[in-house]
Amino acid sequence: MNIHEYQAKELLAKFGVGIPAGIAALTVEEAVAAAKQLPGPLYVVKAQIHAGGRGKGKFKELPADAKGGVRLAKSVEEVESFAKEMLGNTLVTVQTGEAGKQVNRLYVTDGVDIAKEYYLSMVVDRGTGRVAMIVSTEGGMDIEEVAHSTPEKIATIVVDPAQGFMPHHGRAVAAALKLSGDLAKQAGTIAKQLFTAFNALDCDMLEINPLVETKDGNLLVLDTKMSFDSNALYRHPEVVALRDETEEDPAEIEASKYDLAYIKLDGNIGCMVNGAGLAMATMDIIKLNGEFPANFLDVGGGATTEKVTAAFKIILRDPAVKGILVNIFGGIMKCDIIADGIVAAAKEVNLQVPLVVRLEGTNVQQGKDILANSGLPIVPANDLGDAAQKIVAEVRKVS
Ligand code: GDP
Ligand code: MG
Repeated sequence: MNIHEYQAKELLAKFGVGIPAGIAALTVEEAVAAAKQLPGPLYVVKAQIHAGGRGKGKFKELPADAKGGVRLAKSVEEVESFAKEMLGNTLVTVQTGEAGKQVNRLYVTDGVDIAKEYYLSMVVDRGTGRVAMIVSTEGGMDIEEVAHSTPEKIATIVVDPAQGFMPHHGRAVAAALKLSGDLAKQAGTIAKQLFTAFNALDCDMLEINPLVETKDGNLLVLDTKMSFDSNALYRHPEVVALRDETEEDPAEIEASKYDLAYIKLDGNIGCMVNGAGLAMATMDIIKLNGEFPANFLDVGGGATTEKVTAAFKIILRDPAVKGILVNIFGGIMKCDIIADGIVAAAKEVNLQVPLVVRLEGTNVQQGKDILANSGLPIVPANDLGDAAQKIVAEVRKVS
């Protein structure tokens, strides 16, 4: 789960992390009122969307040379005119995709005099099973380019969870940022605060870009992205309360209501599978046969008619879907029960695209008979390879 920059900063401030003063605003009037409460004379008006790259982003509705989603304003009047330009318009950044995201909320902050921009992030590193801190002297809007062309400028410091954050980790961060004296001390402190927040909030990613050194010698978090491990959200009702569903894919929200693991992808073959491993294998074999999956969808162990129906509906929301491949292993659920579910669901949603079904497991023959006698144009498949070839042939027929 992701949250907005202003929410992340408010959470970090509780851990002692230095942030510029700022106030979120939903209207132009609120943005003006926010600016009036800040010291000035420099303000920053920041689009709040769940995507980075806002500074270099472009608004669809504005001329190509208009400023992006992070703007420095030198007066309250300028804050007002920027707020008018940004609110309600669609910001396209490298992270939003072509469709962009509508800006419904701004964050008006105190403008900071920046001496230097650094990069600091933390992720759960699956390889080591530890938290990795990634730091670089080259913070700012081009970190992806730095990672690509000068990876030696990025240092990784790993913290053993059993040991926790030790002073030497702080010194390593400061050294990687080439800081000395008081700034080095501040870097150690802020890294420790961020690590504490990361653990306490069960984050899976915390990115500070930029971490800035101000002209008067302080380290501040100027921008942050924070995401949480959804399996740990039950421990953090205060974090769940920050969820902004308008920023999420409606199909994924619908899927979570039915406890379906759904992730939209870019292809044209909708997949309905039980078990994450089988789902991955299904996506692989579709690709091997030359087409691309439209989604990852794991209906889980108990594939009931209700769940299968919901899954069909979610897959069919995507206009790119030209055919559906159902690949179910009847282990806990028997194949005849699943076949009943598929038939009922296909009838209920009045399925118009080709459907290939591969069933395997307990009562597989009864299951296949139910599909064959359903009167629906379901294409049966015998194994994974056969299923992939058949669905690929079907979608190529229609497209
Ligand atoms: P992003 O483009 O979505 O990553 O948004 P950021 O919040 O990181 O802002 C982009 C850039 O705007 C930063 O890298 C800074 O260079 C600049 N910026 C943001 N806030 C301030 C500020 O308070 N003062 C100054 N001078 N520049 C800022
Ligand atoms: Mg940034």
